[in-house]
Parts: sequence; structure tokens; C-alpha cells
Amino acid sequence: MAKRLSDLEGFSVTVLAGVGPERSKTLAKIGVSSIFDLLTHYPRRYIDKTKQSSIRDLRVDESAWVFGKVVSSATVPGRGRGRGRTELRISDGSGFLRITFFNQPWRVRQFPDGSEALFFGKLTEYRGQKQLANPEVDLLDEEDRRQITAIYPQSDKLRLYSRDFRGWQLEALRRAKTLVEPLPAWVLEEHGFVDRTAAFNGVHLPETMVQAHEARRRLAFDELLRIQLALVMRKRSIETSSQGLEHNTSGVLLARFLAALPFALTSHQTTVIAEITADLGGSIPMHRLLQGDVGAGKTVVAIAALLTAVQGGHQGAFMAPTEVLAEQHFAGMVPLVKGITVPDEESSLFEDRPLRVDLLTNRVTGKDRQRLLAALAAGEIDVVVGTHALIQETVAFRSLGVVVIDEQHRFGVEQRAALKAKANGDAVPDVLVMTATPIPRTAAMTVYGDLDVSILGEKPGGRLPIITEWARGGDAQGAVWAKVREEVLAGRQAYVVCPLIGESEKLEVASVEETFERLETHDLSGLRLGILHGRLPSTEKEATMTAFREGRVQVLVATTVIEVGVDVANATVMVVLDADRFGIAQLHQLRGRVGRGANASFCFLVTGDAGAVGDDEERAQGNARLEALVRSDDGFELAEVDLDIRGEGAVFGERQKGRSDLKLASLRRDRALVHLARDVAERLVTEDATLSETPDLKEELRLFLDPEDEAFLFKS
Ligand code: ADP
Ligand code: MG
Repeated sequence: MAKRLSDLEGFSVTVLAGVGPERSKTLAKIGVSSIFDLLTHYPRRYIDKTKQSSIRDLRVDESAWVFGKVVSSATVPGRGRGRGRTELRISDGSGFLRITFFNQPWRVRQFPDGSEALFFGKLTEYRGQKQLANPEVDLLDEEDRRQITAIYPQSDKLRLYSRDFRGWQLEALRRAKTLVEPLPAWVLEEHGFVDRTAAFNGVHLPETMVQAHEARRRLAFDELLRIQLALVMRKRSIETSSQGLEHNTSGVLLARFLAALPFALTSHQTTVIAEITADLGGSIPMHRLLQGDVGAGKTVVAIAALLTAVQGGHQGAFMAPTEVLAEQHFAGMVPLVKGITVPDEESSLFEDRPLRVDLLTNRVTGKDRQRLLAALAAGEIDVVVGTHALIQETVAFRSLGVVVIDEQHRFGVEQRAALKAKANGDAVPDVLVMTATPIPRTAAMTVYGDLDVSILGEKPGGRLPIITEWARGGDAQGAVWAKVREEVLAGRQAYVVCPLIGESEKLEVASVEETFERLETHDLSGLRLGILHGRLPSTEKEATMTAFREGRVQVLVATTVIEVGVDVANATVMVVLDADRFGIAQLHQLRGRVGRGANASFCFLVTGDAGAVGDDEERAQGNARLEALVRSDDGFELAEVDLDIRGEGAVFGERQKGRSDLKLASLRRDRALVHLARDVAERLVTEDATLSETPDLKEELRLFLDPEDEAFLFKS
């Protein structure tokens, strides 16, 4: 009988010949306990033996896979135990080659004469003889005569070799025979996918590279489809199981706000506000993600959503991830809604009353807090700005209509439940999640796939580009300080940002203080400098920020506390020290602090002479990040680069537990498959909301879902 993945999950690897209690313990260490785990332990690459270079054709300094038979081996002892040089002599019929291992005497035992293996490395020449030194090794079994060799992640330490996996996979697949095909035939036909059985055989035991490729495509699609199915089902389930408020979308308040803005909306803002308004007017609760680059004008859109709630007699809440950000948002919002009045239907004279916007943070205490909470409960406050504390039990609203959440990754199932509890009657408040940094489209579909997405892809016009330079080394730094001085003397202001050091606030503060000292006494002597970091008392922080806003402080030396939300149009220079320590998104956010006024702005990314520091990979990545920043000022483009450099880790926060299922699929390499999986998932769920017609597919979703989702999707 054909096997389901869940059946395979039911068999322990100990059913395989050669896997006893010891081996199974070792395998468990790498997460392989069941036959299902084994079959989803995929090769990391394939070697086509017929296509490998023959020894005769190898060239010095080139890297290659070489297939050969061991002719002889010997260890030349060195000083100390386990030391010395082990040399193999291998042959492939076209010639002989020396393989050298240092301090690995056990290699002699690993390679008895006559054994066959693949070796990967760079050919070098040593005393007139060609050799591969410390190559990567893949042993081949005698019966392993396949043209294509699957190479698995191996571990010398655990003594788990690629060859072992090949043997186990072969046995597992032979015994499993046919696997259940969970997808309806139309999906396979329309998109040219091979079936499940062919896919698992093709990925582990391919006969051609084309087969391996097709197998991988199918299995990667399956991973992405499971994630998309869970997301689409979650989204539909929210839509059908909860009732939303039907907001008044044609009231005067929104119109008044927009008319009073000192600028015209960009076309993107207009479109996005229309999308949101349509959601708000409907009976399905809104769950929308607003993506927009720094400076794209998200605040105006957020206020429009909040005021739509207010004009129907409800309240709006704006939640920020930190208190500081809440304060900044509040400060940014107040001028935009200044003078706006609300038609007051409760007053017998239909008089207007002023719009009341307030701030609730932990700093509001005692009597003030009680008054504020009472006003919220009575509906006297129209819009409240604060942190997540706003949806805590102790805060009661008269009628919460719209919630705007400024952050990413954190609005999960728990928060949704808390929000539901805040609902007035049966209707759930509408939710708009804003991301401070754009994320790539495929990532958004995966991480935020249960939300609708609006994009502000265009910034308000008339801004000058920010000139970004990578300042490497001492001379370049000298030029940076000269530029800062020049701008300040021209009446403008600058930021100098010091990095977080080893996650330690204490070290960070020390570094900011040290930098401040040095700049004040040397590089920027004579200028008025201010200092800002997380350890300062809030009164001092506020005083410094005010002084900077008013131009009394010319250069602000700070940590990343200024990353988001600080808006001083007169600041034209951003200097980021040790810029290689920051991520792309963070640097882009920091850069977004300048370029807000009418004057040309500059961003200097400062590093040492050699560029980024760290090991080879860290250096390469750091330099790639800085180059990207210099090249592009488009947050969406940078997000794609970030995904390319950092991989999926760049986008998965704690939010996506399903990520454990992404073993083959990659959000960067498989962009087209992500879209395809989304389309197929939507079609499947639209035609059959509970997947009852594809029971095998439904069944295997359970294998991958986290318990929360499972309860959610399979409760009926
Ligand atoms: P974001 O939150 O997306 O980074 P903000 O909402 O802070 O961006 O807007 C950045 C700046 O652009 C603010 O000073 C804001 O007043 C201004 N702004 C917003 N929309 C427009 C527009 N349509 N035209 C001109 N300036 C705008
Ligand atoms: Mg609604």
C-alpha cells in the first residue's frame, strides 16, 4: 500500500539494516529519528562522475571534484601524538594524484587500498608534485556505481558519512516503494511536477541531473505549498469566524484631515488609503500589512485609518514597539492633526469638538494615568498612542475601532487574541500592521501570508538624493569630519552613530562616551556636540533631543536610539561608525534620518582600511552590505539584496514557526515557486475550504504545523 509521510514518520530509522541503537542515537543528534526524517534529510549537492575532471586535465589553482581509486596510503609521522602527514595516491586511469591530509592519521584506515572516493579541493603544486591538500572527501561504496552521487552533509565527529546516507536512503526508498500523492492531478499537470514517489527517488537516487533537478523542484514546491496552505487557511478562517466593524467611510473627518495637510498625497498614498478605507467599510475585519520605505509617508496613511474609526464614533490606537518610539510617533502625529475638529453628534447643537489625541506610556503614572484610562473608557480620547500595553487587560476602551501596529514580526496569535478581547460586542477591531523596513515580496508572502498587503512604493517627490559614501580608513575619516564641519558651519546639523558592541549596553555607552570625548576635543572641536544613549535619564534625553531639534546642539553623537522616528529636517549628515557592524535594513533606516529637508544630504559609512572585520565570510558579507548601501537608496531593492546575502534568516523572526519545513526551498532562489505555491494554495482553499477532498494533503499539513495553527485549522 502506498505510504503517507505520516506513515513514514511512524517508522524508526532502526528498521534499516546497519542502524542499531548506537547509530540511531547519533542520527537523533542531527534530527533524524524516523524514516520520514531520513527521507527529508536531503543531499547538499550532486556529483556527476562522468563530468568530473580527469586527473590528467587538472590545473594548478583550480578547484575541482576528482573521482579516483586509492592505490596506496602512508602516514609520515610528525611531532606529537596524532600529528603527521597522511598521503594517499589515487588513480583514475588518466593519471595519478597525491592527496595530502595533515594531522589526520586515521585517514589511512578510512582509505584501504582499492577504495573509491570523490575528493574536492584546489589543486596545488608542492615540490614539483601536484596535490590536493585537505580536500573534502566523499567515500563511495563498492556497489555505489551510480553516475550521479548525492552528497549529504557529513560529520567526521559523529562518523556520519555521505556514503552511509546513500545506503540508508536506498534501503528506505526500496522498502517504502510507492508514496501517496497528496496533490490533485491538475496541479501536477498544469505545472509539470513529477509525482511524490518519483520526487523522493529522484532527489536521493537520481540517474541524471535533470531528474535531480525536477525532484528538487517538486519537493521544494511541497514545502512552500504547505506553508501557504496554512497561511491561506488561517486567513480565511479569521475572515469567516469573526465579525468586523463596518466603519463610516464617507464622514467629514477624514476629508478634513486630508484637506488640512500641507502637501498633496502621493498617488501611492491615495491608492493605499483607498484600499484601507475599503477594508474598513466592509464587514470582514481588516488585517493588512503596510509596507513602505523610510520616508514614504506611512504616518499619514496610519492617521487616515485611525480617523476613519473616529468619524464613526469609535476610537483608534497606535502601538509602537518601544516607549521611545511611541513618544516619537505621538510627537509626529500631533502637528498633522492640529486644529482638526470632530463633528459631535452627541452634542445637541451638533457642534464640533477638538480631536483628542493622547499618549499612554509607563511614564504616565498616578493620577494622570487614572484620568487617562478613565477618558479612554469613556470614549473622550479619540486616538491613543502607546506600546503593546495598550491592549492589556487594564486598558479599557469605549469602542476600539482601528489598531495600527508599527513594527514587524511580533503581532502574532496571542496579540490577536488580546485584541479580540478588546472588541466591543462581537465586532473585532480592524488591524493595520506597518513595517518600518520593506521586506522582499516572497518573504512578505511567507511571513505575512495571512495578511493583505499594501505597498507605498514611491516617496513624496521633490527630495534630493542622499549621497552615500563608504569611508575606509583614517584619511577617509578625516575627510568625513571635515565635511561635517563644513555642513555645520553652513548652518546645518549632523548625526554620528556608534554601534552596539557585543549586545552590551555598558560597552556601548562606554564607546559612545569615548567617541563623544574624542570628537569634542579633536575632530569636531569648537562645535556644539550632544550625546544620546539608552542609559541616560529620560529628562536628559528629552533635553538633548529638544536642543538638537532647536539647533542648539549641532552634532548629535548617539547610539541607534535615533534609528527610527527622529525627524529633524535641518540635519544633512549621517555618519555611521563601524558601519560594517550594522545590518542593511538598519543602515538604511539610519540614512533615512537625513534627506528630509531642502538641502543635499550625505551619509558616510565609516570602516577601517580593510573594510568590514571578522572571518572571511563576515568580511565578505559586511563589504557586500556596504556596497549595496552605496549603490542603492531603494529600501525594496536593498531588502532583496539582504535576502541574497543573509538568506532566509533575514526575514524569519519568531513569527514563522513553519520555517522548519523549509529544507529545500529558498525564498531567494525559488521566488517563482513561492508565487506558484500561493496561487495553488488559494485555488485549493477557495474550491474546498477544509481540504476535505484532498485528505492526504490535509493529513500531512498536520506534520508541519505548529500546535496553535493546528488547533486553529482543524478545530472542526
Ligand atoms: P515613514 O513613516 O514612511 O518613514 P513619514 O510618514 O515619517 O514616513 O513621512 C516622512 C516625511 O514626509 C514626513 O516629514 C511627512 O510629513 C512627509 N510627507 C508625507 N507624505 C508626504 C507627501 N505626500 N508629500 C510631501 N511630504 C510628505
Ligand atoms: Mg471592517
